[in-house]
Amino acid sequence: METQEFRRHAHELVDWMADYIENVRDLPVVPKTEPGDIRNRLPGSPPEKGEPFDSLVRDFKDLILPGMTHWNHPGWFAYFPANNSPPSILAEMLTATIGAQCMSWQTSPAATELEQVVMEWLRRMLGMPEGFTGVIQDTASTSTLVALLCARERVTEYTFARRGGAAEGADRFTVYASTEAHSSIDKGVKLAGLGLDRLRRIAVDDHYALVPDALEEAIGTDRAAGFRPTCVVGVIGSTSSSALDPIRPIGEICRKHSVWFHVDAAYAGTAAVLPEKRFMMDGIELADSFVFNPHKWMFTNFDCSAYFVRDVDALLHTFSMTPEYLKTARDAEVANFRDWGIQLGRRFRALKLWFVIRSYGVEGIREIVRRHIALAEEFAGWVDAHPGFERMAPVPLGLVCFRYRPRGVDLDDSNLDGLNRALLAAVNDAGRVHLSHTVLGGRYALRMSIGQLYTTRAEVAEAWRLLTEKAKTLGRSDS
Ligand SMILES: *Cc1c(COP(=O)(O)O)cnc(C)c1O
Repeated sequence: METQEFRRHAHELVDWMADYIENVRDLPVVPKTEPGDIRNRLPGSPPEKGEPFDSLVRDFKDLILPGMTHWNHPGWFAYFPANNSPPSILAEMLTATIGAQCMSWQTSPAATELEQVVMEWLRRMLGMPEGFTGVIQDTASTSTLVALLCARERVTEYTFARRGGAAEGADRFTVYASTEAHSSIDKGVKLAGLGLDRLRRIAVDDHYALVPDALEEAIGTDRAAGFRPTCVVGVIGSTSSSALDPIRPIGEICRKHSVWFHVDAAYAGTAAVLPEKRFMMDGIELADSFVFNPHKWMFTNFDCSAYFVRDVDALLHTFSMTPEYLKTARDAEVANFRDWGIQLGRRFRALKLWFVIRSYGVEGIREIVRRHIALAEEFAGWVDAHPGFERMAPVPLGLVCFRYRPRGVDLDDSNLDGLNRALLAAVNDAGRVHLSHTVLGGRYALRMSIGQLYTTRAEVAEAWRLLTEKAKTLGRSDS
């Protein structure tokens, strides 16, 4: 493609991008697509000769777009958000244009130094104590795996990697997380080679937060049985219900038993920009590592996961690997982020974060997050006030868990599960809003997660209207 042609197409696509942002609310949130629908419409073999760019764009619009789920639709209430924002999109364009590879300082000095600056900004924005140093990882899953690998190193006094990945008693390392903690912890424990049966799932209270006494007891039992407690993962904002594990008592237990304390705040971390939500971080100075995802609630394109550690050397001991061809004259003076995680090659992710923070300002980010939380509180109020609905968990942030429970009809939990499954399908089927579900305390619950950048009260009210309307229809046919 000649530069002139690139310029013309780029301008056209930017116009398309702006139209998309303006009009995404008119598209169905989730496509009505069956497995294979898209693939069957695409040729099985690549073109021998290059095709005109216009036909690529046409096929993107006609074949690909109708098969996309619109996470940046204002009616997006499923899972947790995966936001972007105009400044973030523009930064991604620049990043793609430069095509930088940011594995070490030398390979992209500004990328390394900007990453250091924005991670320090984030540390201050979240009110985290000094002494934490940040690095951008791709996802929270990777960050948690990194934490588990560091924990495994530390429990062997940093000899695990030096011995080529072997340690006395490595089959006896144990990891602890609540029954509500994310599946990425199971995956990390598995990938770190610790063995899934070494992951101890700790009981939660009736707010779905980890019970510290149960943690301490489990660690004690394991110690007595000759296991080596290695890592505890605390969760701020669990995936099912945004439950807040009590960080301080967990941290104190970890200190007492010299266990690595990793805090997973993938979704909720962004809310720590609000002074009134800082309470959930109380005790964070006791953590060894902390992760949250700007790609969830901080309007930064996927992927961008902010990982903080207290002891950078733990990362370096675990991941540093410098063959001759990667050595540079500046290695002693600079941070080489390839030594701070799993991958060698790294994207330039700091740029989009920098664009987002500077465009909105910390106050601007606070306002949006506050608005989301206020909408969730209002929605929770509607649920609480409606005799046919019940709330299933507290609402500390932007997520409301609830279920339909029609009055005057005697339904057991399994009937209610079925009814709510049908309700979710009916509400989502309209294509205007999209919610997801979970299971809390063994019962099916609907999840209304409010955190999409463009969501307004109108979409939240529309979701509630659909829920009550469809519930009435279903409730009647059921009774
Ligand atoms: C979303 C989420 C994750 C996984 O995040 P990825 O960045 O997709 O790996 C982990 N933990 C919690 C609590 C989450 O909400």
